[in-house]
Amino acid sequence: MKLTKAQRATLREMFGGLCAYCGQPLGQVWHADHVENVERKLVYVSGKGVVATGEFHRPERDTLENMMPACPPCNIDKHIDTLEGWRKKLSNSCAVLQRNQPTYRHALRYGLVQETGVAVVFHFERVRAAERAEVKAASDEAKPFNVEA
Ligand SMILES: [Zn+2]
Repeated sequence: MKLTKAQRATLREMFGGLCAYCGQPLGQVWHADHVENVERKLVYVSGKGVVATGEFHRPERDTLENMMPACPPCNIDKHIDTLEGWRKKLSNSCAVLQRNQPTYRHALRYGLVQETGVAVVFHFERVRAAERAEVKAASDEAKPFNVEA
């Protein structure tokens, strides 16, 4: 769907102007990512290669509710992956670097970088968890004191 200027502005501010995935500020150029892939129809065009037709195999997913504001590097890296598939790929980044990048292995050996093993948590997940905690805290505050069952 072609977003209106107002829809695009609202989507951009969904997380205060930050990428829904990495949490970095969105620049002038940002993408409206389909969280669940719309599966773009592709055709081969002689002299151009494989190009998108502009049609989707899953048009029912082309909704504003299925969109997140994303920085281009995140949207391009996520590509057609599911969130869990992409999370798994991201979680494997250090192993890929160790296997393929001698410079990374040197940096590790000399202590210039340190792998943390942290779980990949997307920015929108942190925001929603914080919102749930705020709702719970507000709910707990609303409870009367000294209530014993
Ligand atoms: Zn990002």
